[in-house]
Amino acid sequence: MSRGISLRDVALSLRGRLTKRLTQLANARDRTPPVVPAPIDEVIRGVRTPQALSRLLEGRSNPERESAVARYLRTLGVPFAVHPFACAEGSGENFSVDLGAGDRVLLLAAHHDAVDGSPGANDNAAAVGLLLTLLERLAVSPPTKRRVRFLFTAAEERGYLGARQYVLGANIAELTGVLSLELCGIGDSVVIWDAAEETPFLRQVGAALEGVGLRRDQSYHVVGRIPMFGSDHRAFAPLGVPAYGFTLVPSANAEALRQFVWSPVRSAIRHLIRRPVPFDTYHTPRDRGGTLEPKALALALRGLEAVIAEVA
Ligand SMILES: [Zn+2]
Repeated sequence: MSRGISLRDVALSLRGRLTKRLTQLANARDRTPPVVPAPIDEVIRGVRTPQALSRLLEGRSNPERESAVARYLRTLGVPFAVHPFACAEGSGENFSVDLGAGDRVLLLAAHHDAVDGSPGANDNAAAVGLLLTLLERLAVSPPTKRRVRFLFTAAEERGYLGARQYVLGANIAELTGVLSLELCGIGDSVVIWDAAEETPFLRQVGAALEGVGLRRDQSYHVVGRIPMFGSDHRAFAPLGVPAYGFTLVPSANAEALRQFVWSPVRSAIRHLIRRPVPFDTYHTPRDRGGTLEPKALALALRGLEAVIAEVA
């Protein structure tokens, strides 16, 4: 693919800037006191649950979040690759860890950055905590026929910049499928989104979730392209890789969420007024660790472990 700046890059860059501006406007009147980040040593020495590990990132600046992920990966002692990038849109470092053996790769991604002014607990420290937990568990007995790649991306909030830079240097042909973990810490049902068409990978994801007792249209949902939101998987999808978002939502809010995410205009207005959980804290100073639900994270962990077992 072209390495020049495409129209799509320009659109995504503008979208990133619009997000930043809207966030600043919405947060201007919010008087929530800032989060005091947990000492990193304390988190590293502490219990290793997704929620506890989300504190590696919560309340820190983006450069601090980035270096906290690298530091934790070094502490785990797993070999990891650093993918630095610098371009007109910005700079940062993606990190990746490959576990297992084989030609085909299941890629699980979570972005480590957050929008300015938000502690970024559910978006997206919780997802990073999930990936770190999964990674440590899988390292004990890695798959033998497939590889699982854990990708921690930078600058997702700038129109998936880190992921867009990552795909420029990646071997896309080896990817079986991509799941981008976003907002995984609140709710009791899984949503696989941007999944408009059936693919073998989507069938595997569905089978995995069914296998751990989830039921389609009840405790997990498969939905098409969501106009209002996006995530790192959208850097992969145009290259022909089955790539979806993986998110948790409260099923009690299903109807309000449906209206919210499917009507961009109304959403834009509601952005400044009232939004259903989990979007009520999304990109705000109220996206704090205290709002994360251990049950939600446990469900996400169970679902993702099943996907790994099914695909790898
Ligand atoms: Zn996010």
